[in-house]
Amino acid sequence: MSYEHQKIEAKWQERWAESGVFEVEADPDRPKFYNLCMYPYPSGALHQGHVRNYTFGDLLTRYKTMRGFNVLSPMGWDSFGLPAENAAISSGVHPRENTEAQIAQMSEQIKRLGAMYDWRRELASHHPDYYRWDQWLFLQLFDRDLAYKAEAPVNWCPNDQTVLANEQVVDGHCERCGAEVVKRNLSQWFFRITDYAERLLGDIDQLEEWPDRVRTMQRNWIGRSEGATFTMDVADSDLSFEVFTTRPDTIFGMTFAVLSPEHPLVDRLVEGGEYQEEMRRYQAQAARASEIERLAEGDKTGVFTGRYAINPATGRPVPIWVADYVLMGYGTGAIMAVPGQDQRDWDFATKYGIDIIRTVQPPDDFEGEAYVGDGPAINSDFLDGLEMVEAKDRISDWLVEKGIGERTVQYRLRDWLISRQRYWGCPIPIVSCPDCGLVPVPEDQLPVLLPDTQDYAPKGRSPLAAIDSFVETTCPACGGPAQRETDTMDTFVDSSWYFLRFADPRNEDRIFDPEAAAYWMPIDQYIGGVEHAVLHLLYARFITKVLFDMGLAPVEEPFARLFTQGMITLGGAKMSKSKGNVVDPLDLLASHGADALRLYHLFMGPPTDDAAWDQNGVDGTARFLDRVWRLVTAGAEGLQERDETPADREVLAEAHRAVRKVTEDIERFAFNTAVPALMSLSNTLSDYLKAGARRETFEAATELLLLLLSPMAPHLAHELWEATGHTTMLATETWPEWDSELVKREVATLVIQVNGKVRDRTEVPADISAEEAERVALASERIQEWIGDGTVRKVIARPPRLVNVVVG
Ligand SMILES: [Zn+2]
Ligand SMILES: [Zn+2]
Repeated sequence: MSYEHQKIEAKWQERWAESGVFEVEADPDRPKFYNLCMYPYPSGALHQGHVRNYTFGDLLTRYKTMRGFNVLSPMGWDSFGLPAENAAISSGVHPRENTEAQIAQMSEQIKRLGAMYDWRRELASHHPDYYRWDQWLFLQLFDRDLAYKAEAPVNWCPNDQTVLANEQVVDGHCERCGAEVVKRNLSQWFFRITDYAERLLGDIDQLEEWPDRVRTMQRNWIGRSEGATFTMDVADSDLSFEVFTTRPDTIFGMTFAVLSPEHPLVDRLVEGGEYQEEMRRYQAQAARASEIERLAEGDKTGVFTGRYAINPATGRPVPIWVADYVLMGYGTGAIMAVPGQDQRDWDFATKYGIDIIRTVQPPDDFEGEAYVGDGPAINSDFLDGLEMVEAKDRISDWLVEKGIGERTVQYRLRDWLISRQRYWGCPIPIVSCPDCGLVPVPEDQLPVLLPDTQDYAPKGRSPLAAIDSFVETTCPACGGPAQRETDTMDTFVDSSWYFLRFADPRNEDRIFDPEAAAYWMPIDQYIGGVEHAVLHLLYARFITKVLFDMGLAPVEEPFARLFTQGMITLGGAKMSKSKGNVVDPLDLLASHGADALRLYHLFMGPPTDDAAWDQNGVDGTARFLDRVWRLVTAGAEGLQERDETPADREVLAEAHRAVRKVTEDIERFAFNTAVPALMSLSNTLSDYLKAGARRETFEAATELLLLLLSPMAPHLAHELWEATGHTTMLATETWPEWDSELVKREVATLVIQVNGKVRDRTEVPADISAEEAERVALASERIQEWIGDGTVRKVIARPPRLVNVVVG
């Protein structure tokens, strides 16, 4: 009987589906495990990034099931939005038709991986029975004043012809298409995520099982800074402006003030003066520059207004400048400039000949320019001698006492812009009435259906605005003629709560049943790409908190443990269609099978790191599976009936060591080192079989090998489990425990050299023989590579510490 992966894989995929093993219900008597891979865009065929993701996820689903957990592993589709719509535009097929075809295709492909989901819970965000709850959610936020419409300078992608949230702008470019983003003043819908800034920041501390870099990225994005806001009077006028600073303790060192070119005071300050023309040119130039260009390192530019402001601490006038490195959107759009303690201000002051006064004493060995560290205050009147924290406190109190300032906390986070001028999204359930203003669509009229149209290409305003039958409606409040909102929602709204809907996906009366959510939440393991570190993960945390405050979500933090996988690269670049370096998983499913592909993804490197694709890698794992197949099927013949010898016992001990290694590796997400442990066990068993294996020992060890292989190469493991006479389904077997007495062994580190240079290291039993050490050394793949075409002249073994291979 030979290993026919095609036949075996189809057989077991059907058996698993029929068995219903992975279809689960809430069961308070069993520990639950909610295992979720970020739901995908159905924008095309399965790629290796998906395979990696679902292989990791499915391994956990199967492993945790064998550990006795009630495992929820659902699958759904992030099916609204630009990728789906752009795919439709390029293919000329309507987004709905296109999306549904893609979903059908991708579901089949995912099933061919042998990855198991509770498909009864499948959801897709473009279905009206899903997006009506987006709309319901919107209305709840609107009711609570957490959704509002406002005119603001927003990010506009000229290519996608829509606005973008701040989070979707990466280095000044559109996160989707890479086009340079421009600013436009538009009236748009926002979610007031800034109301939750403090909680979103504080609760990051609870997320201990998140990668540190993701926690840091969220902290930085929210960007809390404590400081003071105070008023500065413009000399010889009744004008004044506010500045925000995180370093009020350095106020005595303020030698100039800077306004953003957009600051409303600028025009009045220069009006009729000698700097007016120059200022106009400067403002126009700043308006053309992107935020990123303005904040970039390097030469700072500015224009003097000809006016002075009074430093409230010293009472002395300081020149007011306008410079584009100050942004209107952050703080107050005006800063006090303290060149002694801020390098950017130092550079500016040096360039324009402005005074520099140090107000913090740098250490004796300090050789830099601006000193931003801590130290006793100097040249600072009543602050002199105080350290930074104390000085900040004193001056803040002083500003408050004088009635010119207050302590302030400032966030970098801005409200979440959620409206889009695109067709393929969830309509915003608001009606605009000339008499009543913005009126929410009553709940019993939801969903506001996305109308069908053939004219869905982006054109700078929502395509819905061109559909009269959609736009023209009656006002729910007064019954008069009114117009529907024509923008659609950002798809990140859809994905900000889908994981809660999975707990109760068919509920027609509520967004989800709080009791069902209480059983399944939080998500015990969330798996996805690090590109969502700020976007999706921040929005999902925010919406979960809102639903928590409404008494619906049982937890404030949805994702207890987060895993972000690395990218797959080929030829040094990320594998992507546009770079033409894609290896199609479907080809490999056909040629090598799902198990070999899965195993290669597990084996290719640490799951968190980027991994370089090796064209021969899948050949290697396929060969390994072939060896396991032959080992187990051949083992039926030629086994000996005899008493156990110490050598037999050592073989069993090896199997138990593999159980320990694989279990610990899975628990710490080190799948890449679990696979070699199985390869090594399979080699041990092969050798054992050749040397004359004892039936009982061989069968016990083989059984352990199949149990361990079950979450990784499930088809082959199941087939062999059945072939060796088991009547149970392997997927429902209990995960094995290791015998702690049996696994004990003295180990030593064997250093392997080639021509006297250290080329590999491996753990060996402390009592290893010289012959065995030599065999281990020559079997090492690395050593084989170093030997290459050379001839082994001599092997010097000094067990258990050293083997030197002499190659000529
Ligand atoms: Zn774009
Ligand atoms: Zn009305």
